[in-house]
Amino acid sequence: MGYVPNNLPREIKNVFNSIRKELSRKLYLKLEPNKEDCPNCLTSATGDSLDKFDSSFVTPVEIFGNIISPSSFSRGRCPVCYGKGYLEQENIVCIRGLVLWNPIGEDSRGDLQRTPVGIEGYNIVQVKADKCYYESLRDCVGAVIDGVDCELQVPPTLRNVGPVEITAVAYFITTDVGHTVR
Ligand SMILES: [Zn+2]
Repeated sequence: MGYVPNNLPREIKNVFNSIRKELSRKLYLKLEPNKEDCPNCLTSATGDSLDKFDSSFVTPVEIFGNIISPSSFSRGRCPVCYGKGYLEQENIVCIRGLVLWNPIGEDSRGDLQRTPVGIEGYNIVQVKADKCYYESLRDCVGAVIDGVDCELQVPPTLRNVGPVEITAVAYFITTDVGHTVR
């Protein structure tokens, strides 16, 4: 009696971790896209395409996993970058977090005071995630949460959950106006 197996704390932790994993959802954070200068056209000092073929480009290069071959053009936009002067690759990270839609009143720390008024049809969503995602949450330029496009409304803050665990908490707002989330 009164015997506590050595591994009990660890087992309790595992149970909590698995519950948390069940409750948490995958969400997608869009970070600044990766950019590479277009090898196929000449660009201005500010990086804009000059709509002129770069004749020094003779050997195909690999950019973002695609082989880019020289593609000469004499009029119109560069066929490689479509006149942008750079190639872009989406930079999306998938994280797991606890998602709570329209949490007003749930959390009394005043985080939502900065929420703009008169935004009927928008939804606020609270995301709680491991602190290792803090920077991704802070730097993201958008997110897809439960299939809905969102943008960061209140940057993440780190909060204690219990004595040791620290969670990043951020708020997003839907950019898809009128999209109602149950
Ligand atoms: Zn180009």
